[in-house]
Amino acid sequence: MAIKDPFGRAVENIRVSVTQRCNFSCIYCHREGQTPNYGVEMSAGEIERIVRLAASLGVDSVKLTGGEPLLRSDIIDITRGISSISGVKDVSMTTNGFLLTQYAEQLKEAGLSRVNVSLVSLKPERFRFITGINAHKNVIDGIIRAVEVGLNPVKANVVLLKNVNDDEVGELIDFAGSHSIVLQIIELEKFGNEIFYDQYHADLSSLEKELEGKASKIIVRRMQHRKKYILDNGAEVEVVKPMHNTEFCLHCNRIRLTSDGRLKPCLFRNDNLVDLLEPMRRGVSDEYLKNLFIEAVMRRKPYFI
Ligand code: SAM
Ligand code: SF4
Repeated sequence: MAIKDPFGRAVENIRVSVTQRCNFSCIYCHREGQTPNYGVEMSAGEIERIVRLAASLGVDSVKLTGGEPLLRSDIIDITRGISSISGVKDVSMTTNGFLLTQYAEQLKEAGLSRVNVSLVSLKPERFRFITGINAHKNVIDGIIRAVEVGLNPVKANVVLLKNVNDDEVGELIDFAGSHSIVLQIIELEKFGNEIFYDQYHADLSSLEKELEGKASKIIVRRMQHRKKYILDNGAEVEVVKPMHNTEFCLHCNRIRLTSDGRLKPCLFRNDNLVDLLEPMRRGVSDEYLKNLFIEAVMRRKPYFI
């Protein structure tokens, strides 16, 4: 049984940021809500120890993220270490895909079960405008390789930006259908710059209505109450709408671990983190760390209510 927060939400999923470094500079990036601290990074052993503690409290699903997780030279060791922890049933990753052709097979072999790849546009110019790098071909090749080696599902994550890529949903659906991947359309989350958000935030309600009309089946996933639309061409489309969404927060089952070793109870808040790395490096016991983990879970509360 997974540990529950004071609002009765079971914490089953940990999102581990393994680095803040990145080779892209996406205009919309929230960096998992982490304040910059490039100097400190958990070691593979420290990450594994924290995930083992989490697993002992019922967390059975781990998502590796960043920054760009594939920039860690020990990412295969990290993946293997986490996959072998008793109680961990699912290890996945979200990546920008740039290095995925190179790593997909080793990741699969190390125990990664599935992968989400950020694919903001199929058009080279647009891709470069959004990410700051000329790499849409590498990312598409990475997605194809991930499918080939048997990572399943492979999801393309698309943060929809008003007047930038919001006219591309049809093409992305065709791409997803023809490559047997899931398309995950994500609403832009507000971080820092209000002007940026107002300029680029796309309301996904009309897209959802359109998908409802076209779908042969709609599945509501328990996690964060996400909707999945199965379309006639076989494509699967998920829509992630966190902003001002009380249902999303009500069903949130995840906690975050920053790359500098702090537990982050909520993406949108920075005033309630619990540091594990400093005590760990001081040599505290597992029992002590477990209590800190429980404290972080007890600090969780829905952001949008
Ligand atoms: N570099 C990896 C990548 O791009 O997938 C992992 C880190 S990235 C911060 C993790 C996820 O957050 C990606 O799916 C990305 O699209 C999403 N993301 C980043 N900034 C966002 C924002 N402002 N709103 C919604 N999603 C965002
Ligand atoms: Fe952020 Fe990921 Fe883009 Fe890097 S690739 S800037 S971490 S969204």
